Amino acid sequence: MKKRFVLRNVKRVSGEAIDIVIEEGSIAGVTNAGSGQGEHVIDYSGVYVSSGWIDLHVHAFPEFDPYGDEIDEIGVKLGVTTIVDAGSCGADRMADLVTSKERAKTNLFAFLNISRIGLQRVDELSNLDWINKEKVIQAVNEYKETIVGLKARISKSVVCDNGLEPLRIAREFSSETSLPLMVHIGSAPPSIEEVVPLLEKGDVITHYLNGKENNLFDDEGKPLQVLIDAIERGVHLDVGHGNASFSFKVAEAAKRNHIGLNTISTDIYRKNRLNGPVYSMANVLSKFLHLGYSLEEVIAAVTTHAANWLDKPELGRIKVGDMANLTLFTVQDDPNTLIDSEGDKRVAERRIEAKGVIVNGELIEC
Ligand SMILES: [Zn+2]
Repeated sequence: MKKRFVLRNVKRVSGEAIDIVIEEGSIAGVTNAGSGQGEHVIDYSGVYVSSGWIDLHVHAFPEFDPYGDEIDEIGVKLGVTTIVDAGSCGADRMADLVTSKERAKTNLFAFLNISRIGLQRVDELSNLDWINKEKVIQAVNEYKETIVGLKARISKSVVCDNGLEPLRIAREFSSETSLPLMVHIGSAPPSIEEVVPLLEKGDVITHYLNGKENNLFDDEGKPLQVLIDAIERGVHLDVGHGNASFSFKVAEAAKRNHIGLNTISTDIYRKNRLNGPVYSMANVLSKFLHLGYSLEEVIAAVTTHAANWLDKPELGRIKVGDMANLTLFTVQDDPNTLIDSEGDKRVAERRIEAKGVIVNGELIEC
């Protein structure tokens, strides 16, 4: 890797063409197209640039099969410079996730599962003995650099007979640690009308566009009052597409009702990457472009919005002096079929494709 190089003729999502000069890992200049100076110039005419994509919900702990994957397979190789593991690990295994983070190129943060066993089993909140306050606090203190929130999966198959109790405990841990919650929603019980009121400003609802029985919209596609109230309070909505949690019908209802996009995340792991319906961040972004959101809105949902939620604004902007974390991508006119978690299909006219990243100053092509 050259110490100084120029990304020539890259386009911002606004369409403005620029050069970006990278030196010693940092953004050294953002200039008019054609005027960036450096011995090593790479022409990216026709290619878009944004700050590096951030995926707020992934599973990056390969040992937990099937809900795991290698960090860089779901990170830089898919155009994503920063991933946030969504509670694959609880206190028992967080040390191992942090170790593998050190070997990877992709930046990684994590939600700590309030269950010490994490996704070692998929009913991790069915036994309250697996929820241990001391362990949570210890892990949070030890891995401050990595842990950005607490994860609680509040759906029937995870909590079994425990109902809302794990969420009440999560709420208490959240105030003890001053960390927000990411709450996975899904099948009842507990009912969504009981779950959502327990969430506060800064907490994240992941899977908000799921099409299961217990979802956030009524039979006519109108948002439930609990959702409207949650948005008012400042609860953050995250897509978390996954195997079972993204429905075109629900997403179309959200769009019709002007529910704004906060963050688009994939809930990706090996199986839904290789076999779909997730495949990649670019595939998920293409779905939102097809839904009628503008390219600016779609890209903001994986850059500025995610960076602001993380309280790391430098990850969501292109600014001289910052470490260079950028994503290069194209938007092609290329009719293609997209599939949601319900098996519903839509034919999209355009396709977003990741071309490469600059991650902490290093260029990696996809
Ligand atoms: Zn997940």
